[in-house]
Amino acid sequence: MTRLGRWLHLRSVRDAREKKYVHSRGIRPSSLSTSTILPIPFLGDNYTYLLIDHATREAAAIDPADPYAVHELATQLRVDLVAILTTHKHHDHAGGNLKLQKLRGGRLRVYGHARDRIPGVTRGCVVKPGDVLRVGETEVGVIHVPCHTDGHVVYCVMGAEADAVFTGDAIINGGVGAFFHGDAKDCYDNLHVRLKRVPDAALVFSGHEYMLMNLRFSHWLDESDENVATALREVATRRHHSFTTQPSSMAVERRVNPFFRVKERAFLGKIEELYVAMRRSARKKWYRRYVPDWLDRSAFIAAVEGPDRRDAEMGKLARKIGGTGPDFADISRDPDEPSAIECVKGIKTCQELIQYRHAIDQATAGEGGAEVDEDESPAAEAPEPGPVRVDA
Ligand SMILES: [Zn+2]
Repeated sequence: MTRLGRWLHLRSVRDAREKKYVHSRGIRPSSLSTSTILPIPFLGDNYTYLLIDHATREAAAIDPADPYAVHELATQLRVDLVAILTTHKHHDHAGGNLKLQKLRGGRLRVYGHARDRIPGVTRGCVVKPGDVLRVGETEVGVIHVPCHTDGHVVYCVMGAEADAVFTGDAIINGGVGAFFHGDAKDCYDNLHVRLKRVPDAALVFSGHEYMLMNLRFSHWLDESDENVATALREVATRRHHSFTTQPSSMAVERRVNPFFRVKERAFLGKIEELYVAMRRSARKKWYRRYVPDWLDRSAFIAAVEGPDRRDAEMGKLARKIGGTGPDFADISRDPDEPSAIECVKGIKTCQELIQYRHAIDQATAGEGGAEVDEDESPAAEAPEPGPVRVDA
C-alpha cells in the first residue's frame, strides 16, 4: 500500500462525503449477546463497521476506510473508540487507519496481520490465527484466511456461540473476493476448513454491497435452486429501494453462495454442464473456420488457445493436495459428499464461469443495455430491514 494510493483513497472519500451520496439506507444496528454492530456505508459500495460493547461502551472500528464517518459517529454516540480491526491491506479497508488514529488523538490499538503490512498497526497488535482480542467485555477471535491477500483475517465476535463474523473481502455476501494471493485450494481451506466451525446462526458482515450481483451469478449457475431464487428476489427488492443487504448469515452463505455450495454433488454436476457448454461456445472462434485442411486442426488450435486452463491448474492443485496437508486431515465426510479435490475443482469452475459471465455481460451491455432481470420489478411494499433470510 503506497502513500499516494492512500492519499488518493482519502481524497475520494472526502469527495463522496461532500456530495452526500450514500449507497444504502434502511440500515439497522444488529444487537448481539454482548455488543451491537452498526454498519456504515461509504463510497460506491463499501462498508465499515462499529462494534460497541454493551457493558463498557468501548468500541472498535472494523476496516474504517472512511475515518471521517467513523470518527463522527463515535463522537455522536459518545462511545469510547479503543481499537481498529483491519481485515486486509487494500485501501478501501486499511486506507483510513492512520487518519482515524490521528483524529482520535493516537489512543487506538490497531490490529492487523503481519503478512499484509497494514499501516498503523500498533505494538503488540499483530494478529495470528487463534488470537482472542477484547473490546470491553466482548471477545473477538481471529481466523487467518489467506487467498484474497496473504494476510487476510476474519474477525469473529464470540458470544455463547459465534455471534458475527467480519469477513472483509474473504466472503462478500453471496460470493468471495478475487484470488489475488491464492488459488482455489486456499479458498476451499478458508470456507470449508478454517471457517467450518463458525455456526450457521453467525451474522456475516462483509466489506461490500455486492449481494445482488453475486446472487444473480449464483442464480445463473443453478436456476432451479429455490434458496437462491428466494434470496435473489428478496435482495433485488431491497436493492430496488437502495436498502442494505448487510448482514447475511453463515446459514445463508452456506445455502446460496456457490463457493460454499461446491459441497453439494448435484450443484457440482450443474456447473460442470455449464462449463462444458461454455467451452463449446468459446471454441467457435473466427480463425477456426479458416484453418486449412492440410494443417493438423487440433494441434493448431491447441497452439493458439493453449490447454484448458482449469484442467492444467487442477493438475498442479491435485499434486499439492496429494501431499495431504493437515488442512484435509480433520474432514469427516459422508460417502456421497464430494471429496476435497472435487470441491476445489468446483471452485475453479465457478471462477472460470464468473469470467465468462463478465464477458457476456460486457458484450450484451454494448448492444443496447445490460440484461433486464424481471426479479427487479418494483415491489409494492418496502422490504423488512434486518438480516437477509432465505426462508421467506
Ligand atoms: Zn480487498
